Amino acid sequence: MSETAEITQNVSNSAGLSVKQIAELNDQYQPLNFEERLHRLYQDFKPEKVMVTSSFAATSAYFLHIISRFRPEQVIFFIDTGFHFVETLLYREYLIGLYHLKVEDLKADSYQHEYSVKEKLYEKDPDFCCSINKISALEAIKPNYDIWMSSLMSWQTDHRAGLAIFEERRGIIKFNPMIDVSREERDAYILEHKLPFHPLVNEGYSSIGCTHCTVKGDGRSGRWLGKPKTECGLHL
Ligand code: SF4
Repeated sequence: MSETAEITQNVSNSAGLSVKQIAELNDQYQPLNFEERLHRLYQDFKPEKVMVTSSFAATSAYFLHIISRFRPEQVIFFIDTGFHFVETLLYREYLIGLYHLKVEDLKADSYQHEYSVKEKLYEKDPDFCCSINKISALEAIKPNYDIWMSSLMSWQTDHRAGLAIFEERRGIIKFNPMIDVSREERDAYILEHKLPFHPLVNEGYSSIGCTHCTVKGDGRSGRWLGKPKTECGLHL
């Protein structure tokens, strides 16, 4: 196989990266810490082609504080499912003011959202509900970006434990700079910078999503309780 053919092999993402190039990026970024990875990403890729999302959940201040230090003008997308806790919306406003964040809301098509409400899809078919209210809202803007930056950490779920720093997912390159940050390291950063938790953390919630699918509990045990679902599908 010629080098040109090899380089273009399996290119199916907006950044135009081949499997080989993604593997090389992982090799180059692996020895770096997450701050060095972030710094380098904004050099290696066009900053305006980097997409960032936040759920403004339990410890989102951690990721948002870091992003606001590295690129204050970075737009943060918030997927407004219409099912958030009031406390989440208040926390969102609080962090916007605290870190001067540029936040834009993403919403599902209103007709489809109403259908999910009327049919109580969160009870009958949560995958479909997430597909309407989370995934479709994000899919609409994804073609505008080459890189999707996440704050996923490997200790959070079995699925996340298997992720690399760079991964191709449904036409976009996922960038997981914090994938090897331990819970202790994250908590030390939160303590050092006196970051505010989501107000429901004090009430026993550790992972916070939509009201219909979140109860109190350790780790992500309170998400989709009693159902086999552990991820909303955004990161699958
Ligand atoms: S987390 Fe629950 S309520 Fe929210 S979109 Fe998914 S299924 Fe629907």
